[in-house]
Amino acid sequence: MDNRCTAIRFAAPVTHHSASAPDSTLAYGLFLRFLDSRLEKQFSTYYTDYYHRFAQASLVLGLLLVLGDCAVDFLVFPDVSANLGRLTLSMPLLLLAIGYSFTRTAKHNWQTVMAAALVCISLSLFWVLARIDDQGGAGGLSSWVGVLNFTFLELYIFVIIGVQFRIAFAAGLTILAAFMYAIQAGISSELHAFAYWSYQVLTVFILAAGVGWWREGLIRRDFLARTELERARDAAEAASLAKSTFLANMSHEIRTPLNGVLGMAHLLQRGGVTPLQKHQLDKIIGSGRHLLGVINDILDLSRIEADKLELSQSPFTLPELFRTLEALIGNAVHDKGLLLAMDIDPALSGLQLTGDSQRLGQVLLNLTGNALKFTAEGGISIRVRKLENDETGLVRVRFEVSDTGIGIPPDALERIFEAFEQADRSTTRQYGGTGLGLAISRRLVGLMGGSIGADSQPGSGSTFWCVAGFAATPACAAHTASPAGPALRALPHGAEVLVAEDEPVNLEITRELLEDAGLRVDCAENGRIAVEKAASKPYALILMDMQMPEVDGLEATRRIRRLPGYTRVPILAMTANAFSEDRHRCLDAGMDDHLIKPFEPDVLLGAMERWLGLSAEQHNGIVVQ
Ligand code: ADP
Repeated sequence: MDNRCTAIRFAAPVTHHSASAPDSTLAYGLFLRFLDSRLEKQFSTYYTDYYHRFAQASLVLGLLLVLGDCAVDFLVFPDVSANLGRLTLSMPLLLLAIGYSFTRTAKHNWQTVMAAALVCISLSLFWVLARIDDQGGAGGLSSWVGVLNFTFLELYIFVIIGVQFRIAFAAGLTILAAFMYAIQAGISSELHAFAYWSYQVLTVFILAAGVGWWREGLIRRDFLARTELERARDAAEAASLAKSTFLANMSHEIRTPLNGVLGMAHLLQRGGVTPLQKHQLDKIIGSGRHLLGVINDILDLSRIEADKLELSQSPFTLPELFRTLEALIGNAVHDKGLLLAMDIDPALSGLQLTGDSQRLGQVLLNLTGNALKFTAEGGISIRVRKLENDETGLVRVRFEVSDTGIGIPPDALERIFEAFEQADRSTTRQYGGTGLGLAISRRLVGLMGGSIGADSQPGSGSTFWCVAGFAATPACAAHTASPAGPALRALPHGAEVLVAEDEPVNLEITRELLEDAGLRVDCAENGRIAVEKAASKPYALILMDMQMPEVDGLEATRRIRRLPGYTRVPILAMTANAFSEDRHRCLDAGMDDHLIKPFEPDVLLGAMERWLGLSAEQHNGIVVQ
C-alpha cells in the first residue's frame, strides 16, 4: 500500500533543525512509513532488532496460552472433539514460527512471516470455535468468549508480537474479516445478533489498531530522535575531522616554505655579508620566527580546544628551566636596556620535578615575553616560590613574572586571558601581538591542574603568576650538573648521511648545513630511492622527511629497518608534520627522533651531534664486544 499520496507530515521530535525548517526526509505517513525509503529501511532494521527477542518470547507465551486454553476447555468440555483440532492446527504453526525466528534470514522477513503465522493461527482458531459452535458446546464465536479470543488475537498482533503497524493492520483486518464471516456463517438468520457481535469486534479492532498506531508512533519518534542525534554527532565529528585535517595541512604547508625562507636566511648570514645585509637578514629571520610563533599559537589553541593536546611527564629541574629561559630572552632584555632578575626558592632548586617542562617553559616564556614587550624601562623579575604541598602530596610551585611596564587597567585583567583579547586594542598597533599567548597559557596551566592570574597597576607595572603542582624527588647531582642533556660531541668528520627530502629548497639548506659541518651528504628525493640507497651502502645517519612521493618517510623507515645492518642506524624525522601524533607515528615506524621544520641550524646540528655520537658509541661497544 503506497502511503505517499496520503502522507501526513508527522513532525520529527523537536530539534533546532526541525523546528526551523521541517525536514521532509523525516516525515512519515498515516500508515507509519517514512517517506524516505532509506530511513524506512533503517527503521525496520532498528525495529526488528529491538523486538526480535521480545517477539520470540511472545511466541513461546502464545504456545503456552494455546496449551493452557486447550487444557481448560478439555477439562470443562471433555466431549468436544474440536478442542483437539486447535492443538493440531496452531501448535505446529507456532512451533514453526519459533523455529524460524532462530534462522539467519528471520530478521529480514520477520514482519511478514510473523503476521502471516498469526493470521493462519487465527483462522484455525476461528474454524475450531465455529466447529465448537456446531457441536453446541462452547457458545462459539458469537459470544463473549469469541470476542475475548478475538481481542487477544488483535492485541497480540498490534501490540505484543511487534510487527510494524501497516503489516499488523493488514493482518488485523484479515482476522476481523474472517471473524465476521465466521459469525455470519454461524448465525446467518439472525441479523441483529450479527450486527451486535460485529459491533463488538469492530470496536475491539479499532481500539487495538489505535494502541498499535500510538505505540509505533512513539517508537518512531524515539528512533528519529536517535537518528537526529547520530546525524548531529556524525556532522560534528566530520566537521572536527575536517578542521583538524585543515589545520594539519595548513601547518605543513606554511612550515615547509617558512623552512625555506629561514633556512636560506641562515645560510646567507653564514657567508660574508655587509652589516646592512646582516641587519636585513636579522629582520627576515625575526619576522619568520614571529610568523612561526603565530602559527604555533593558533595550532596550540585549536588543539587545546579540541582536547587534543596532551602534556608529557618527564623529570626536570627549575635551575635547568631557568637557564633555558635566560638563553632565550636574556639578550633581548639586555638589548632593551632592562634588568633581568631570576630567583629560585632554595627549597626548590634541589628538587627534580616531574611534568611537562616544555609547556611550562612556554608559559613562562610567554609571560616574560609580554613583560619585555610592555616594559620600556626598569626591569623584569622572575621568581619561583614553594607553597604548601597540596592534599595529594604534590609540591605546589608559584611562578611570578613582574615588570615595571605600562600595567593593565583593572577592567581588562580578567579579559586578557580570553583568546584574541588585549587590554587596549589601540596598543595592538604599537606592540603587535595576537592576544593568544595568555589564553594558551591559561589553558596549559589548567591542563597542569593549576591556576594563573595577574595583579597590575596601570602605569607602574604588572605581576603575572601561575601556580601548579608537581611530583618531586631530590635531584641527583648528575642531573643538575649537566642540564642540557647528554654532552654533545663533535660531529664525526666525513661521516656519510642520507637526506631523504622531496622539496629541493629544503634539501639544499640541509645539505649545505651538513656539508659545512664536515659531513658527506647523499640525497634521495623520495622514500623508494632512500630505501634503494640505504640497501646499496651503509650510512651513518638518515634524515627522513615524512611526506614524500611514491614511498613516504614512515614506510621507507620500516623498509630500511629491515635491511641488514640498519637496526641501529639513527633515522631522524625532519618534517613539517609538527604534532605530537606525528612524532608518535615516526617513532612507531622505527625512527629515533623528530625534528620539526622550520628548524634552527643549531637544533639540526645538535641533533646530528647527539645521534652520530650515540651511534658511534654503540658501534664502538659492538666492536669491543
Ligand atoms: P599578545 O601579547 O599577543 O597581545 P597575550 O594574550 O599574551 O597576547 O596578552 C594579551 C594582552 O594582555 C596584551 O595584548 C596586553 O594588552 C596585556 N598584557 C599581557 N601582559 C602584559 C604586561 N606584562 N603588561 C601589560 N599588559 C600586558
